[in-house]
Amino acid sequence: MNQHTDVVVVGGGQAGLAAGYHLRRQNLDHVILDADPAPGGAWQHMWDSLHLFSPVEHSSLPGRLMPAQPGETYPGAGHVVDYLADYEKRYDLPVQHGTRVRAVRHDGERLLVEADTGTWRARGVISATGTWTRPFIPAVPGRSAFTGRQLHTVDYRCPTDFAGQRVLVVGGGNSGAQIAADLALDGHVEVTWVTQRPPRFLRDDIDGRALFDVATARRRALDAGRRDTGAAASLGDIAAVPPVRAARDAGLLHAKPMFSRLTADGAWWADDSHTTVDAVIWCTGFRPALSHLAPLNLRGPRGHMPTDGTRACGEPRLHLLGYGDWTGPASATLIGVGRPARDAAGEIAHLLRS
Ligand code: FAD
Repeated sequence: MNQHTDVVVVGGGQAGLAAGYHLRRQNLDHVILDADPAPGGAWQHMWDSLHLFSPVEHSSLPGRLMPAQPGETYPGAGHVVDYLADYEKRYDLPVQHGTRVRAVRHDGERLLVEADTGTWRARGVISATGTWTRPFIPAVPGRSAFTGRQLHTVDYRCPTDFAGQRVLVVGGGNSGAQIAADLALDGHVEVTWVTQRPPRFLRDDIDGRALFDVATARRRALDAGRRDTGAAASLGDIAAVPPVRAARDAGLLHAKPMFSRLTADGAWWADDSHTTVDAVIWCTGFRPALSHLAPLNLRGPRGHMPTDGTRACGEPRLHLLGYGDWTGPASATLIGVGRPARDAAGEIAHLLRS
């Protein structure tokens, strides 16, 4: 049987909750369908030692400041899960956990959101499904020949799972640096960290706060027709969060250039040497989880969907929230998602009332 609502939000992580907050302020009837059985989005699946690169006061959703975590400047993932669970409850957001959306179509008049609990007929849809469920591993010579363990960032939990082993960590972003640091600091794992280009550490005094300020300044400059002030990425890729700094300062965090190929039991390097390893951890990023939108045929290049702000080009009733800068500057961060969420809810409200 079909159920009806003004707006269906697909995904109940931070982006979906920020959308719910602003839809409520717009007095729009809505439901938030979330595949995870519990609150917290991707944060509940991240590795044990993960800490944010932004301090608490720069990690909040609209309306409610994240409380401080005693003893920590940079909160841990568990603290974020608690914050999101509390946020959901405090604003009484209509989240249905354990509900996966399989497809979004339209019947001309309404958007049809097909979930595994039934179909919703909606006048607008906000897709906020993140990237965590679509880990990306590049095609690397010899990858299928390697007979050891291969994991992605999403599978990594803690160093004890690799005690006494030789591990290759691949990737020069925050995940690669943090996981390599976590393993190296443990002292019971032989870690080799490889990156495609030399790792670019942010200055120690620069964290998520400064990155957000840079993204905001850029947005203001571009909106005002002024010269591009440069993306946050121009400052570097890796935030020097405490474990990364500790491993780096202890001389444990040296990156090697990429190996030339994997073999059954390790990797060959450009200088014709070979390293035997037990496991490879691919910290090589993510793609947007958009397969539920495939029936709408809106896909653009590189797995993205062309958008104007958050609105999908070609389907004005559909908005995309989170995912990356292509849906709004810093929209895939806690502090950055508030503004595009407000814009998406405002545009839908305007469309439904016009
Ligand atoms: P998610 O948290 O992934 O939530 C998406 C939700 O949608 C999930 O609950 C999922 O179950 C649900 N879902 C997916 N598909 C469907 C479907 N078909 N139907 C129904 N539900 C579905 N940001 C910061 O601000 N500070 C940081 O320090 C920081 N560190 C990060 C570290 C790592 C390792 C990573 C990967 C990201 C980090 N980020 C950080 C970026 C970002 O804040 C997180 O990725 C965040 O989880 C994104 O939130 P989201 O709501 O967009 O997606």
